[in-house]
Amino acid sequence: FKVPQPSNEPIYSYAPGSSERQLLQDTIQALRAKQVEVSMRIRGNSVKGSKKVAMSCPHDHQHILGYYYEGGKKDVLDAIDAALSAKAAWAALTWQERVSIFLKAADLSANKYRMELNARTMLGQSKNAYQAEIDSACEWVDFLRFNAHYAAQIYADQPISSPGVWNRLEYRPLEGFVYALTPFNFTAIAGNLPAAPAMMGNTVVWKPAPQQIYSAALLMQILEEAGLPAGVINLVFADGPEAGEVVFGHREFAGIHFTGSTKVFQTIWQNIGNNIANYKSYPRIVGETGGKDFVIAHPSADVKALVTGLIRGAFEYQGQKCSAASRAYVPASLWPAVKSELQSELGQIKIGGTEDFGNFVNAVIDQKAFDKITSYIIEAKKSPEVEVIAGGDFDASRGYFVEPTVLLTTNPHYRTMEEEIFGPVLTIYVYPDQDWAATLQLVDQTSAYALTGAIFSQDAYALSEAAKVLENAAGNLYLNDKCTGAVVGQQPFGGARASGTNDKAGSYLNLLRWVSPRTVKEVF
Ligand code: GLU
Repeated sequence: FKVPQPSNEPIYSYAPGSSERQLLQDTIQALRAKQVEVSMRIRGNSVKGSKKVAMSCPHDHQHILGYYYEGGKKDVLDAIDAALSAKAAWAALTWQERVSIFLKAADLSANKYRMELNARTMLGQSKNAYQAEIDSACEWVDFLRFNAHYAAQIYADQPISSPGVWNRLEYRPLEGFVYALTPFNFTAIAGNLPAAPAMMGNTVVWKPAPQQIYSAALLMQILEEAGLPAGVINLVFADGPEAGEVVFGHREFAGIHFTGSTKVFQTIWQNIGNNIANYKSYPRIVGETGGKDFVIAHPSADVKALVTGLIRGAFEYQGQKCSAASRAYVPASLWPAVKSELQSELGQIKIGGTEDFGNFVNAVIDQKAFDKITSYIIEAKKSPEVEVIAGGDFDASRGYFVEPTVLLTTNPHYRTMEEEIFGPVLTIYVYPDQDWAATLQLVDQTSAYALTGAIFSQDAYALSEAAKVLENAAGNLYLNDKCTGAVVGQQPFGGARASGTNDKAGSYLNLLRWVSPRTVKEVF
């Protein structure tokens, strides 16, 4: 059996005057004009928690998009029971039967629901049309189609046998339930974290980030419309630590699929460790966490390509990507040209709500994020080691807007060179050209995280030298390109060190974590 050959979902451009732009704008207006009500989905039923919580637009925080109803421990336990009851029938389906449901969800998402997925991501998470399109349309659809393709390859891979002996591998799902704990910053990731284990025959309890519930609700609706049986994925809204107590204290907890902060992941790992003797099996712990992603320019770098890489890498989606460029190392000989190019490009950037398609930068996700990001900027402005090269202003009166900010520091260990900010702040350190080799060492030593990195150079020897020295400093290394925007099927995504377990989202490596194979030897 072969699944349909996947190819990346084409990206719509939403060019001015195009019918697709009109359609997306109409969908946004229609959504703005109403308020949706979102319930949990447990056992295929809507379950209304007791706490009513408003969902608002980050770029227009007085505008209420709707409400969700948060539950508590009892609902999480109910969702676990639902997942466990659905398990046998789901795992007994052939993999082709399971995969076909996700392929149908991909088609529904690419066609019938494309505009609404994007509109929800634009309104609820403050992404511009392009950032929404590459996320909630393309990446989400790619995850489903490519994972179907990788699943087929996994199931086909069998050990050798000989006359009189037949060896086989049965790719069983994990015993128990899987917990998907998902982030606000990518609708595609939020959908993939429950979908990937479910595709491999697991049943799942899915707790999305509160700021993404507006688009998560639609993902769930699409999966159900595609035919996902009741109880296979159960969507719950609850306080994180409370939900965690129930999940990690449960004997049938089989694994977690996580994207979020390093700190939360470490706490989860500790909780799992504390309960380790109670579980039936050692749980699979799969997490993608933080990043402090570097850009290094060699003296031979092309300045225009470098500046494009810096601006797109650091400021698309307001820098709220684990992969975002947040520290850069520029040789002194290039600095004057880089500085003036950066300032002139950033001077033309438009900031504002997502409804105006001309805005490149929108709002950061919420007040908490705004406060954290701006505290770094305020402190930097006071520091004798830092000069603000571009941006530096912020305003939360209507939406949580932070200008794309470039800091220049004389201290390569300054806070913003080492700590993850998760916002539109890029810090640059200028190194003497002759210190190229020492700078590579410095970058490696300051890479507590190891998610993405970019090297700009027109000198092939320098590129390979940097790639070698920084072998363990990034799970995704880009040569002469920005360090964000990994495409499913093209650049499997993930990093090690404090950035995660490097199980490469959207690849067979990830899917393998969701099976517990049984080897059967039969003698005739
Ligand atoms: N996969 C995304 C990228 O390559 C980043 C995902 C994340 O921020 O978690 O830009």
